Amino acid sequence: MAAKHHQILIVGGGAAGITVAARLHRAAHDVPLDIAIIDPAESHYYQAAFTLVGGGAFKLEDTRRNEVDLIPTDVTWIKDAVASFTPEANTLTLAGGPTISYNYLVVCPGLQINWGGIKGLKEYVGRYGVCSNYSPNTVEYTFEMLKSLKPGARAVFTQPPMPIKCPGAPQKAVYLASDYLAKRGIREHCDVRFLTATLAIFGVPFYAKELVKVAERHKIPVSYNHTLVEIEARNGKAIFDVTAGDQKGQKKTLDFDMLHVTPPQSAPDFISKSPLANATGFVDVHANSLQHVKFKNVFSLGDAAGTANSKTAAAVRKQAPVVVRNLLHLIKGDAIEEAYDGYASCPLTTGYGKALMAEFTYGGKPTPTLPLDPRKERYLNWWIKTTGLPRLYWDYMLKGYEAFPPHNTSYVDPAA
Ligand SMILES: Cc1cc2nc3c(=O)[nH]c(=O)nc-3n(C[C@H](O)[C@H](O)[C@H](O)COP(=O)(O)OP(=O)(O)OC[C@H]3O[C@@H](n4cnc5c(N)ncnc54)[C@H](O)[C@@H]3O)c2cc1C
Repeated sequence: MAAKHHQILIVGGGAAGITVAARLHRAAHDVPLDIAIIDPAESHYYQAAFTLVGGGAFKLEDTRRNEVDLIPTDVTWIKDAVASFTPEANTLTLAGGPTISYNYLVVCPGLQINWGGIKGLKEYVGRYGVCSNYSPNTVEYTFEMLKSLKPGARAVFTQPPMPIKCPGAPQKAVYLASDYLAKRGIREHCDVRFLTATLAIFGVPFYAKELVKVAERHKIPVSYNHTLVEIEARNGKAIFDVTAGDQKGQKKTLDFDMLHVTPPQSAPDFISKSPLANATGFVDVHANSLQHVKFKNVFSLGDAAGTANSKTAAAVRKQAPVVVRNLLHLIKGDAIEEAYDGYASCPLTTGYGKALMAEFTYGGKPTPTLPLDPRKERYLNWWIKTTGLPRLYWDYMLKGYEAFPPHNTSYVDPAA
């Protein structure tokens, strides 16, 4: 028997969980709702600014809030981790032991970072020049390293196979690093490289064409199909598997003074082992309604959802209203909407003071919000990234307000 019951249980109080709770809480003015969020974390981070922290353009403390201050009043916070699900019985079990039952479930615990997936990473990240923007515990070390590099330094930046949080973030780190070294007047005396496990610089060809030019302008050699597998931190060596091309199957070793690692990521184990998962381990939801394919009282959004959009907070911004409307439709017995179009956005900081605003939907269709050529690097996009979006996140999105104007779904590439 379940120890407790809530009408709506939300698993994860990150970008997705808080946004859904806030929107439901607003809706509860009309329909009484009993909502609970399960999350063990005391701190909530605006992770989208971590790249800026690593580039010295944002303070880590400004990315953090107390979780308790973000959870809407009247929403119960269960400060524990979910261990397993029994959706056939509408229950889940907490790591702390108790079982909780629900009428409706929203699953959004984000991505799992697999620090152990690269030999030597877990032991040495944060030391010997091995840094990563992917954790609040290590992100400040990226900028420390950038400040410490001397002429002749070798800085290596890596990207693992997909999925990862914000697929543009690994290359944003390398552009900021290159620009920072240029500002220090030592860029031409440093070797800065980007090695990615993917076969293209970005998953959307429309934007990838421009990003290839950005990397060329920065004189950053880009190696595709290179997966970082081992770090010999004390000797400053990074070892890669070459996964395609002429050198397929070979190992390649690079010397480094600074190694920025984007760690491998996956669906959280407790999701992939559960009956909620699809074959890739993510929550098996319909791409447009975000309703579970089998368990109709279950929804998922954010990084843990098994949808083909780019895993970003921008996607969450457009998914949350759909999940909330569909939950309310289900409660009232109305038809479910298939309204999420796969929107995601990645403001690609290509240097200090400029960014390219990549916005797109399923299939890589460009869908800009502003009536401007989305391929162009602009100061306006930098301002949106560094000032506008953080404000929208904390003051609008996480409070359940409509956070952004609609994106243009009928944009046509004038060059096509
Ligand atoms: C370096 C970096 C750069 C990024 N750049 C951008 C960007 O420029 N633009 C953009 O839009 N996005 C960006 N993102 C991605 C963005 O942060 C994520 O897509 C977004 O946070 C996803 O929201 P979420 O709620 O699904 O997951 P999260 O926000 O990660 O929240 C997941 C929550 O679930 C909780 N949780 C985990 N396990 C359990 C459990 N067992 N039980 C209960 N709760 C659990 C966690 O404690 C956490 O609070 C970036 C991320 C990183 C790391």
